[in-house]
Amino acid sequence: MENQYWIKTCPFCNQGRLFIFKNLDENKLYLHCEECERGYYDLQQIDVAHSFLTLTEDFSAVAATKDDIKRAGWNNLDLKKG
Ligand SMILES: [Zn+2]
Repeated sequence: MENQYWIKTCPFCNQGRLFIFKNLDENKLYLHCEECERGYYDLQQIDVAHSFLTLTEDFSAVAATKDDIKRAGWNNLDLKKG
């Protein structure tokens, strides 16, 4: 998870870090928990009720780059690296 950005701990498992990923099929960013594989699309609603299980979704994803994050307007977040 080097050179990847994360913002906070996952509210579902309270352990994993939420890394910023990009859904390539829909070209949008989401948060991806490194522990429980839960995902979150809405920054305003990072909670269990609005999470989804990334493993059951059929899309390609990669770690978001700094550019992706800037373009999505997520660069005002408290980004942590690594
Ligand atoms: Zn989690």
